[in-house]
Amino acid sequence: MSIEIHIIKERCKGCNICIEICQAGVLEMSDEYNTNGYPFPYVKQQEECINCGMCEMFCPEFAIWVSFKEEEKISGLKVGAQ
Ligand code: SF4
Ligand code: SF4
Repeated sequence: MSIEIHIIKERCKGCNICIEICQAGVLEMSDEYNTNGYPFPYVKQQEECINCGMCEMFCPEFAIWVSFKEEEKISGLKVGAQ
């Protein structure tokens, strides 16, 4: 089971809260802008995420959240399922 970080860039207002609150240094602000003119974060080091949920809890725009990605074997093939 691996952690996935989801960011809806069009919902983001570029407030930087998620980046500042992440003690693991997972997130960084992108140098791109969404269609509303705000910069948005991207996942710099996903492997460092400890699934503390702080980014999700403090984002005022509900633009970021974390989930688990389960891997299962079907007929010998590895497939990802959420
Ligand atoms: S869940 Fe925690 S460690 Fe992971 S990106 Fe969010 S704040 Fe950082
Ligand atoms: S806390 Fe939410 S709105 Fe603020 S920069 Fe992060 S994703 Fe964007």
